[in-house]
Amino acid sequence: MAAPLSAERLLKALKDEGVRVVEYRSWRTHNRNSRGPWGPVYGVMIHHTVTTGTSGSVDLCYGGRSDLPGPLCHGVVAKDGTVYLVGHGRANHAGSGDRDVLNAVVAEKALPADNETNADGNTHFYGFEAINLGDNKDPWPPVQVEAIVRASAALCRAHGWGKDGATSVIGHLEWQPGKIDPRGPGITMKDVRARVAERLRHSAGWSPASSAEEDEMALDANDIRTIVREELARERDQQAKRTLTIDNVIPAAPETAAKGNTHATPAQWFTYLGKFVREIAAEQGAQGAVLARLAQGGGLDAAEIQAAAEAGARAALDRLGAALTDQD
Ligand SMILES: [Zn+2]
Repeated sequence: MAAPLSAERLLKALKDEGVRVVEYRSWRTHNRNSRGPWGPVYGVMIHHTVTTGTSGSVDLCYGGRSDLPGPLCHGVVAKDGTVYLVGHGRANHAGSGDRDVLNAVVAEKALPADNETNADGNTHFYGFEAINLGDNKDPWPPVQVEAIVRASAALCRAHGWGKDGATSVIGHLEWQPGKIDPRGPGITMKDVRARVAERLRHSAGWSPASSAEEDEMALDANDIRTIVREELARERDQQAKRTLTIDNVIPAAPETAAKGNTHATPAQWFTYLGKFVREIAAEQGAQGAVLARLAQGGGLDAAEIQAAAEAGARAALDRLGAALTDQD
């Protein structure tokens, strides 16, 4: 199927493949169709911009340069993996390249070396410009390369290209003699093609398992039991910490504080207070007996007896108060 995708289909194909897409300005109607044919299309070409910065690079690829009008590609792949759509239709990205390469792309066969400029690439290739200086030092973040893979796979899937992992996705350097893009740490066209081929063996929404996920999948039942046990223990600790925080207003009763506890539960304090109440009751009982004997012997009036009883109770309460305030 070699008729170019409509803007709508292209957009949907990218999104279905998990590409984060930004529609830039009037990309749907922005093209160089007045200067030559667009289609039949046979493949996807990858470039680097030799620029830095997303907004400036996107703007340049949309508007072009004084010597080369835009659009300079169909999508700009930012360092963060976002693809900015800047054109739909013929775009000035591929220039003249090797017809033998074009024939290999059409036939989905191994690429010959590019040593001629006798075929118009802008007619036959979708183009993605990835933001990179191309100085062989500027790194290619994995998320950016993943976006290149997904965008390329989206178009291959929509057109039915490259099911066997063949050559529907090429670099500019494989098309036109003298070109070097894309290059740098983190990207090779061989790797991009292998990953596109792998994607095409799965559905569009597929994500390759990260190495961490693969490690997790290698766990056996014992590992999982250990992880669950540790997770539960951690949860219990956190629960205990939360309880302590809530109980922070209740200092430890003196007896438990002596054992190194800094906080008490309400039940501990009730037990502690209960002991004091029993002490007060016992003291009052003892005083009552003494006072009764004194009263029987005469010489004490009722008011004096009451005052003495109250003094005893107050002394016990003062001890309790001191115990409480000492805990701050
Ligand atoms: Zn290029």
